[in-house]
Amino acid sequence: MHGPHDGGPNELLKGGGASAEPPPWYGAGCSHVWLPYTQMKTSAPPLPVVRTQGSRIELADGRELIDGVASWWTACHGYNHPHIRAALARQLEILPHVMLGGLLHEQAARLAARLAALLPGDLDRVFFSDSGSVAVEVAMKMAVQYWINSGVRGRKKFVAFRGGYHGDTTGTMAVCDPDEGMHRLFKGLLPEQIIADLPRDETSSDALDRLLAERGDEIAGILVEPLVQGAGGMLFHDAAVLARLRAAADRSGILLIFDEIFTGFGRTGAMVACDSAATGGAGVVPDIVTLGKALTAGTLPLAATVASKKVFDAFWSDDPMHALMHGPTFMGNALACAAANASLDLFEREPRLDQVRAIEAHLTTALAPCRGLPGVVDVRVRGAIGVVELDRIDIAALKARFVQEGVYVRPFGRIVYLTPAFTIGEADLARLTGAIVKVLSTR
Ligand SMILES: *Cc1c(COP(=O)(O)O)cnc(C)c1O
Repeated sequence: MHGPHDGGPNELLKGGGASAEPPPWYGAGCSHVWLPYTQMKTSAPPLPVVRTQGSRIELADGRELIDGVASWWTACHGYNHPHIRAALARQLEILPHVMLGGLLHEQAARLAARLAALLPGDLDRVFFSDSGSVAVEVAMKMAVQYWINSGVRGRKKFVAFRGGYHGDTTGTMAVCDPDEGMHRLFKGLLPEQIIADLPRDETSSDALDRLLAERGDEIAGILVEPLVQGAGGMLFHDAAVLARLRAAADRSGILLIFDEIFTGFGRTGAMVACDSAATGGAGVVPDIVTLGKALTAGTLPLAATVASKKVFDAFWSDDPMHALMHGPTFMGNALACAAANASLDLFEREPRLDQVRAIEAHLTTALAPCRGLPGVVDVRVRGAIGVVELDRIDIAALKARFVQEGVYVRPFGRIVYLTPAFTIGEADLARLTGAIVKVLSTR
């Protein structure tokens, strides 16, 4: 295997076909594992992975794939980063986990303080959980209980947006895009929420204003992925949309929740999308933020819901029923918090955001040739996110082609996209973009 910065095209597919037999663990376990969003009968079987390093995934037969996805956008410093590995090894010796029920440890305390310092405004109270979906559930409970604790009745609904994705649990599915989120399939199970169009123009802004004027007093919060709607299709919007949402929320006294589980930790070019730099200095500060995915740089499950002073103050009371009624067993897991702290060290010590800018420049140039290809509807790039949108797509065929090209790229919906590690080497990035241009030219 190679370090994050070396390894060129010639070293790819080394030892390809060295061993055609899958390893014994694969044969023994494959028929017992249920994979995510997968038709188990018809889908290609999963690739057996034996090792990761930098931006490379090594398969059991010795082939190496260049990773274009960074394991669902999490592995921002590449795999097996030595600084994170060392922090985890140290933490494993001292204190792998204690519950946060009545106890606190150094890693959670340090991480909470660092997240508070990193976020704008007075977003400074951190509630830890173990997955992004749960962090969003917590944000929604926080918002509903904020109103109850404030003595306001009837504010239990959320406004969320078409194209949005906020998780797979029951509460969060209901605030996903109605089609992508499979509202129909789970009708009767899901609470009914209000799904609107993002206020991108005058028509959609007026529609949102009317909605809030009519139903504002039922609404606890407005929930949005700032700047990029990720799993709903990698759809971009600009900071003006966020400023409109902030203004609309303020007019109706509604809480504004930014789901930064995808956008957080550098992906769009700023540490968080609600950073004033990312929003063109507009300074759009939400009342609650959710973080996850790259929080531990793709090593361990951890998520966080961060509340502003105003929100936290509604829970600060002599009444025990005003406490936030949530508490995941593994919240604030010390190993996960140690990984997150080590990841933040790397953001401080190494020029990650410059690397994101370099990736953005590379993606912009290298994906541009896709524009002219038949069936390509749009090519868009923001930060370390490159997207080619097609009019229709044979996902299974494309996935197989990409593996043949020595890259791991997972199209979904009607898009082919790249969200590489920020540490990816120039040559590997060129292999990824080259593979996309080649595969889309010859499909
Ligand atoms: C991935 C994601 C989630 C859900 O996180 P999980 O860890 O998969 O539960 C929620 N919101 C956004 C914006 C995401 O990208």
